[in-house]
Amino acid sequence: MAIFADDYIRRASPASLSIHCGAIISRMACASCGANDEWRINGNKPPAEIIPRHFANKGWNLHRRPVCPSCQAKKKEKPIMIKPKPEPAPTFDAKAARREAHDLIAMTFNIPTGQYNDGYSDERIAKETGIGVDWVKHRREDEFGPLKEPDELTAMRKQLADAAAKVESIKSQFDQLCAAKGWAA
Ligand SMILES: [Zn+2]
Repeated sequence: MAIFADDYIRRASPASLSIHCGAIISRMACASCGANDEWRINGNKPPAEIIPRHFANKGWNLHRRPVCPSCQAKKKEKPIMIKPKPEPAPTFDAKAARREAHDLIAMTFNIPTGQYNDGYSDERIAKETGIGVDWVKHRREDEFGPLKEPDELTAMRKQLADAAAKVESIKSQFDQLCAAKGWAA
């Protein structure tokens, strides 16, 4: 006689059923590694659905073919091993870097004097934010204005030019005098 009705077997699947010494032995076989897991049920025949649920609760994946918990753990390990790869090279957030560069220009560039404060420069902002120096220059020119020379520098440049003109003038007088008097220059 049939120990289990077809319907019972169907509802208990993918576990296979047998009887041993009066107990129901339900067995699950891993489709991936072939490992077996047994559940010995003493006493009355339980509702068939409890059998697959028992294995599912123990960590078996029964969505398609039965896969044991250790095979699933191995599967999960792989993505974790792969994951660190992209992490050493975090994607450069260009937008965030541009915002930072923009903020730095705003904080350190003095529009009326046309000069950076606190030792800042286009180059330093580019270096600190990882943005290209051309981008910083253009942004500064467009939104804040051109770099201007410090007034002292402009003043000294004028003094130098004046002094050079004076030297030229004296040299020319010297040459004229020598020529007029017939002296060797
Ligand atoms: Zn397995």
